[in-house]
Amino acid sequence: MKSSSTGGLVYSTDGGRMCPECRKPLTQCLCKQAAKAPPAGDGIARVSRETKGRGGKSVTVVKGLALDGAALNALGKQLRTACGSGGTVKDGVIEIQGEHCDRVLEVLQKQGYRAKRAGG
Ligand SMILES: [Zn+2]
Repeated sequence: MKSSSTGGLVYSTDGGRMCPECRKPLTQCLCKQAAKAPPAGDGIARVSRETKGRGGKSVTVVKGLALDGAALNALGKQLRTACGSGGTVKDGVIEIQGEHCDRVLEVLQKQGYRAKRAGG
């Protein structure tokens, strides 16, 4: 951090404090909460298939993992490798392109995560 006066925080034009991580107003920022607060729900990861956008492409979505950003990114990478597919990690949710629910569940459970299938 270079700035001592702001503590590294950037300011939006209306004077509200912004999170330097996600660039959202602090009132809407989930970075700190995601890192500190226990996971919402029961701590069991939910693996589901979702269809995104008008193209109707399927993605496998993993929600509810009690991991911080770095760990989530690392796990996302492992899952993409295991599935041989692309994907993203965003807002605490891992997305893998294509339908890989079974494979994702297998990988998660092998690594000791509590995971179950949810939704479609
Ligand atoms: Zn944030």
